[in-house]
Amino acid sequence: MTMSVIDLRSDTVTVPTPEMREAMANAPVGDDVYGEDPTLNLLQDEAAEMLGKEAALFVPSGTMGNLTSVLTHCARGDEMIVGKDAHIFRYEVASAAMYGGVQPNTLPVQADGTLDLDQIRSAIRGDNAHFPPTRLICLENTQASAFGAPLPVKYISAVAEIARVYNLKLHVDGARLFNAATALGVEARELVAEADSVSVCLSKGLCAPVGSVIAGSREFIKRAHRVRKSLGGGMRQAGILAAAGLISLRVMTKRLQEDHDTARQFAEGIGQIPYIKVDVNRVRTNIIYFNLTPDAPISVEQLSARLKDEHDILMRPYDVREQSVRVLTHYWIKPEHIDRTVTAMRSLLDPAGARRERISAD
Ligand SMILES: *Cc1c(COP(=O)(O)O)cnc(C)c1O
Repeated sequence: MTMSVIDLRSDTVTVPTPEMREAMANAPVGDDVYGEDPTLNLLQDEAAEMLGKEAALFVPSGTMGNLTSVLTHCARGDEMIVGKDAHIFRYEVASAAMYGGVQPNTLPVQADGTLDLDQIRSAIRGDNAHFPPTRLICLENTQASAFGAPLPVKYISAVAEIARVYNLKLHVDGARLFNAATALGVEARELVAEADSVSVCLSKGLCAPVGSVIAGSREFIKRAHRVRKSLGGGMRQAGILAAAGLISLRVMTKRLQEDHDTARQFAEGIGQIPYIKVDVNRVRTNIIYFNLTPDAPISVEQLSARLKDEHDILMRPYDVREQSVRVLTHYWIKPEHIDRTVTAMRSLLDPAGARRERISAD
């Protein structure tokens, strides 16, 4: 990413910081398949500690973290309860079905990012020879599809209570768990205290170039280690990656409020532009959705193309039928980038208003 391009497509576009590159260059490494990479071992220990779990395991991606967790909890023919808009269901290539024969039983995701508790209870299968055994409930925190809504401790406890009563496992896809913790003012470990497993991305808002960690009991991680190996995720001198991940955990988890502030700044800024519909009150973390109204002079495709060609600003249409756009803020997006973006969007959607504003500022 060159600094002159403002990339709001995702927090996955974050590149490692100079401190990360330096740490990567100097990291002591060994063969992790023999458990001998000291930097990787340190990352796994610190991740486990931060997540309040006995053990953690580094994986190449969030997708492999979720898949490894699901395959560790479930056998072929088992069922997992998961949100219809959850990353695990929508964006992971049906991997749990493909590699594990695990059937998703999907529930609608509510506006606050939760799955309805009664619907979870009703989705759990009874003891009947016709039914697949329900084995697992998956939550996503933050829930990306719902404006990155953070799921609070109390809600997660209620789901965990259901899991206990019915003898199910609870997995949290915490790709952005530290954003949730920041928004709620709690420790990440409190958000997963009652979960059997959690997956956290180091490479999104936390800026590492590659990698996620999963965490759980020692016994869970021992079995997950075999599953990861079977998926081709056994790595060698991965300490080079873990060195960046340590900075993610130690430093980057502490600054996410800045990204939530720029997200709010963006939503409030574009909320003043004609033809844009955005619910500022839904902005809790670093994800914003907005729509163009049907009478807008340009479409979201045109908006996206012209922002790119004329202003070096990247944002992608989310749902063309609904004329919606999804924007994410992250480490490389500073308040002045938001100002520039809002000004550019105003000039494209309301040229006369933008001219008036320039003249009155003179
Ligand atoms: C990005 C993401 C993942 C998976 O991450 P990859 O590293 O891209 O595989 C999983 N869950 C959620 C909610 C995500 O946003």
